[in-house]
Amino acid sequence: MKLQINSLSKTYSNGVHALKDVSLTLNNGMFGLLGPNGAGKSSLMRTIATLQEADAGSIFLDDLDVLKNKTEVRQLLGYLPQEFGVYPKISAERMLDHIAQLKGVGNNAERKELVAALLDNVNLGKDKRKNLGTYSGGMKQRFGIAQALIGNPKLIIVDEPTAGLDPAERNRFYNLLSQLGENTIVILSTHIVEDVSTLCSNFAIICQGEVLYAGEPDTAVNEMEGRIFSKAIDKAELSFYQDDFSVISTQLKTGKLHIRILAETDPGKGFAPATPNLEDVYFSNIATRVDVNTI
Ligand code: ADP
Repeated sequence: MKLQINSLSKTYSNGVHALKDVSLTLNNGMFGLLGPNGAGKSSLMRTIATLQEADAGSIFLDDLDVLKNKTEVRQLLGYLPQEFGVYPKISAERMLDHIAQLKGVGNNAERKELVAALLDNVNLGKDKRKNLGTYSGGMKQRFGIAQALIGNPKLIIVDEPTAGLDPAERNRFYNLLSQLGENTIVILSTHIVEDVSTLCSNFAIICQGEVLYAGEPDTAVNEMEGRIFSKAIDKAELSFYQDDFSVISTQLKTGKLHIRILAETDPGKGFAPATPNLEDVYFSNIATRVDVNTI
């Protein structure tokens, strides 16, 4: 499958230009959509999920015109929205059965088997009779994936799925997501760079509604080779360094501020060459748009 997004634009009625001429090509596998809060990720996801209109541009899933054939797209789609509400007083099993019914799985025996298999798949088999209100954040997200998988979707969209999960829950969720990618397009929106480096074969950086970078994480990191330098400075010196260098990230460690800069040649002044990582790619792309100290 191939998802082709061409020159997509969206301005909300309050004047916010949320998507500006967005073009991306996605193939089977896990695609990370990385960007700070307010970048336009959810706007893009909701448009692909046929939940809102674009002002201009097109989206094609193979030959299917996504913006014009909403019903057909919804049959191929699994969607886990950012705010996935659950009814607290219903068990996971009953809720999933209900959603499967809504999604058109009419046969009772077939549905029962499907619900059991999906809950086992997301490792909630033993908790399936518990009410959803008693679930942890990670369990709710795994339940969200189970409902998104009903109907063997070819396109799965998960919007900020790891926000609010503790490290163990996030790991469990990573393991689950990484099993999905092979025969489907999975789009994962996130502001967490680690989500992309752990899971995604391709990714894009989006900021203020624009795609700033699209490609493979490894290639993106290799392109930074020899261009990242680091130094520990006093906090008070930061503005001096910001005037003279392209500071892409800062981290306070044991009283010293560790700064990383992007430079095409050795900047001297006590900077040491650093091994680049995906955070460097991310911050160097968005640094021109957003003050990195506020991220
Ligand atoms: P992200 O998912 O990357 O955090 P969003 O797509 O939610 O970004 O938001 C992009 C921009 O559009 C933000 O400035 C946000 O405030 C604005 N926005 C999002 N949804 C709406 C809406 N329904 N009406 C008006 N503005 C919106």
